[in-house]
Amino acid sequence: MSTSQSLTNSQLDYYRARATEYDTTFVPYMDPALPPVLDRLRAGNLTGDVLELASGTGYWTRHLSQLADRVTSLDGSAEMIAEASRHRLPNVSFRQQDLFAWTPDRSWDAVFFAHWLAHVPDDRFEAFWASVRRAVRPGGVVEFVDVTDHERRLEQRDDSEPDVAVRRTLEDGRSFRIVKVFRSPAELTERLTALGWSCRIDEVHPGFLYATCRPATA
Ligand code: SAH
Repeated sequence: MSTSQSLTNSQLDYYRARATEYDTTFVPYMDPALPPVLDRLRAGNLTGDVLELASGTGYWTRHLSQLADRVTSLDGSAEMIAEASRHRLPNVSFRQQDLFAWTPDRSWDAVFFAHWLAHVPDDRFEAFWASVRRAVRPGGVVEFVDVTDHERRLEQRDDSEPDVAVRRTLEDGRSFRIVKVFRSPAELTERLTALGWSCRIDEVHPGFLYATCRPATA
């Protein structure tokens, strides 16, 4: 069964509404796991022209901006882009883009995304990775951060689609259904290998994985 457009629309509506309160919860959640993630992020691959997907409030964009010559950051939410723009990063350009309707019009040396892949449902997984493939230059790299099943304990269960969706509630009490698919390093490695990627994926901190992938044929 295909994941409904209404679920991915609700997911974007949720992030649009959460943009101004995102950092209040995300920063204390992410900061304890940050050192080993930054070790991988700074390992030397994210240089030159870097594309960031689902850039949010710019938590990672600030780091990418220091490593890369130029960063292009895409997000579906203008509200998130407004938050990220407040960092005034000189070598970053933001563009609003629905990543479920995205065909890259150029390629980059490296592609990075954090806390995005778990929001890509299984029936969009292959198409998403085909777009990523087009966005990477020959010899380029894709790196991403995500959570493992360990982090499911933090989520409100969605009884109608417990394997695909969770429920999130904002400070004002509004509640939204979003996609959240927990995939282990082993499952991701297997699925991405089948799609022609060569990946190293490690749980670098309990609940947090870091992946470094290259096209296997490049
Ligand atoms: N990478 C950031 C933000 C992750 S939150 C971080 O790690 O903090 C997920 C992000 O995906 C939000 O910024 C949200 O606006 C964006 N998003 C949700 N649905 C989207 C879609 N269909 N296309 C593009 N971006 C989307």
